[in-house]
Amino acid sequence: MRYANLLIPTLREVPSDAEAISHVLMVRAGYIRQLAAGLYIYLPLALRVMRKINAILREEMNALGAQEIALPALHPAEIWQETGRWYEIGDEMFRLKDRTGRDMCLGMTHEEIMTWLAAREIRSYRELPQVWYQIQTKLRDEARPKSGVLRTREFLMKDSYSFDADEEGLEKSYRRHAEAYHRIFSRCGLDFFMVESDPGMMGGGMSHEFMAPSPAGEDEVAICDACGYAANVELALSDPKRNEPVAWQVEEVYTPGKRTVQEVSQFLGIEPRYFIKSLLVISDSGPVLALVRGDQELHEKKLARIIGKHRPAHKDEIRSALGVDAGFIGPMEQKVRVIADTCLQEGTYVSGANRQDYHVKGIVPGRDFTAEWHDITLAREGDFCVKCNAPIRIQRVIEVGNIFKLGTKYSVPLKAMYLDEKGQERPLVMGSYGIGPARIAAAAIEQNHDDDGIVWPRAIAPFDVEILALNMNDPKTRDLAEAFYRDLRAKGIEVLVDDRDARAGVKFKDADLIGIPTQVILGEKNLKDGLVEVKDRKTKEVKKVEAESVVAYLLTLFS
Ligand code: ATP
Ligand code: MG
Repeated sequence: MRYANLLIPTLREVPSDAEAISHVLMVRAGYIRQLAAGLYIYLPLALRVMRKINAILREEMNALGAQEIALPALHPAEIWQETGRWYEIGDEMFRLKDRTGRDMCLGMTHEEIMTWLAAREIRSYRELPQVWYQIQTKLRDEARPKSGVLRTREFLMKDSYSFDADEEGLEKSYRRHAEAYHRIFSRCGLDFFMVESDPGMMGGGMSHEFMAPSPAGEDEVAICDACGYAANVELALSDPKRNEPVAWQVEEVYTPGKRTVQEVSQFLGIEPRYFIKSLLVISDSGPVLALVRGDQELHEKKLARIIGKHRPAHKDEIRSALGVDAGFIGPMEQKVRVIADTCLQEGTYVSGANRQDYHVKGIVPGRDFTAEWHDITLAREGDFCVKCNAPIRIQRVIEVGNIFKLGTKYSVPLKAMYLDEKGQERPLVMGSYGIGPARIAAAAIEQNHDDDGIVWPRAIAPFDVEILALNMNDPKTRDLAEAFYRDLRAKGIEVLVDDRDARAGVKFKDADLIGIPTQVILGEKNLKDGLVEVKDRKTKEVKKVEAESVVAYLLTLFS
C-alpha cells in the first residue's frame, strides 16, 4: 500500500484522556479514533492487525476441528430468560424492544444462542463431539470502558462452544482448547500464562484465564515461581506470614472511642496482625459476620462464593443485629452466621468485646468462638504458596482469553439433549471459550514498545516491511521504491511504501511510531553507492545492503 493514499493520521502530541501505553500509541500512530465512550473506529492499520490476529484464531480453531458459524448479535429475550441470565445480569446487558414490544437484547456472549441451536440440530451421540465458533461482535455496557480497545462496549470476540456426551469428552475438548490457546498467544508474540479463575457469570465448573503481564491490566494474579501455582487473586489461596505466639490472658480492655484496627492497635501498642477484624454484611439470607486478620483485607468475591450476593451492613443494621456499634463487634457468642478466614484458626487475638468502648485481649479462636472456616482474604505479595510454601508474587495482567467448563448449566434449561448408545436422552455437556482479538493487539503493544512507538511482533504487524523513500523528488529513489514494492509483493511480503512528499525526519518518526518490524530506507547518498539501509525496528540495528540483493536479504529474514 502507498502511504500517500492511506488514512494514517499520526499525532505528535499525547491524547489527554489516554493512560494505558497501548491507548496512547494506537491513537498517536493513527490506528484508532474514539467515537464515544467505549466505542472505537478502527482505521486501516488497526484493521490489518485485527485481520492478522483473526486469521491466526481461525487457523488454530479449524485445526482443532471447530466449525465456523455466524450467529446474530440481536437476541430475543426469551432464550436468556430460560437460563435465568436475563434476570441475573444487570446493566451490563443492552436491552431493547422491537416494534411489537417484544423484549430483545444485544448479545454480550452466545452460550444461550449456541445451546438453542444445539438443542435443535444435535440428536445422537454419533454426532459428538461438536465444536462451533464465530468471530463476532459482542456488546456490553461496561461500567468503566477505558484504556482504549482493552475494554470497550462493542468488541470482537472469538467464541467457541464444545458439545460432548460426557465429562470425559468435555475434559478433552477443554484440554484441546487450552493447547490451541497456548499456540494462539505464542504465535501472536505475547508473553502470557494460564491461571485458575472464577467462572463468574458463566457459571459451571472449572475455568482458566490466559493472562498477559502488563501494568495496564485490570486483573491481578498470584504466582508461585517455585511450583508454578498461578491463580487469579479472586480465588488464589495463600498463607500469610504466621504470628509469633503470645501468652495473653483473656481480659477486657477499655478503648474509649477507638474503633478501627488502626486506632486500637496504636492505642494498645499491638500490631494489627494480632487483631480480628469483624465485618457485618447483609446477604439474601440475612446478616453474616465475616472475620479477617487485622492486617488483611476481606475479598468480596471469595465471600460471595460462600454466601452469595451481599453488601456491607449499615450502622443501624449492625446495632439491631448485634446490639453494639461498629468498631466494638467481636466474634464471641454470636447468633448470626460467622465466617472466618482460615488463618485465624491459629493464634491469640484482640477483638471487639461486643460492648461499647471495650475490646477483648487474649481470644483464642475455636476455644472462645466457633465459625465456618474459609479463605476469604486477598492474597498478597510475600504470602506463602499453599502447595509448596514458597513466597508468592502478585502480578498485574491483562486477561486476553478465558476457557470455561459449563457442564450442563445451559443444556438442561434449554433442553439441549442427545440420545446415548442405549437410546436414553441425556443433556449435552458443554464448554465455552473466548478470546478478544483487540485485547491481544493492545496487550502486544503494552509488551512491545519503546519511547519512539510500537514494535509489533511480526505475525500481527499491519505490514511486514515499510519502504521509506526519503526523497520522492529524486527519480532514482522513486523508481527503486516502486521496484522493491512490486518485487516484494510478488514474493508474498506485505509492504507499505512511504511515498509522501514529506521531510525525511517526518518519515523516520512516523515509521518508528507505527511500528512495522522492518524498514528499508532509500536515501540518495547511499543509493549513489548502490546501497540501501535495512533497519530492524526492535533492535534499531541498521545494515547496509546492496540494492540488488535487498529482496533476497529480506526473504531470508522472513523465512
Ligand atoms: P473482563 O473480566 O476483563 O471483563 P470477561 O471475563 O468479562 O473479561 P469474557 O466474557 O470471558 O471476558 O470474554 C472473553 C474475552 O473477550 C476476554 O478474555 C477478553 O479478551 C475479551 N473481552 C471481554 N470483555 C471485553 C471488552 N469489554 N472489550 C474488549 N475485549 C473484551
Ligand atoms: Mg467483563
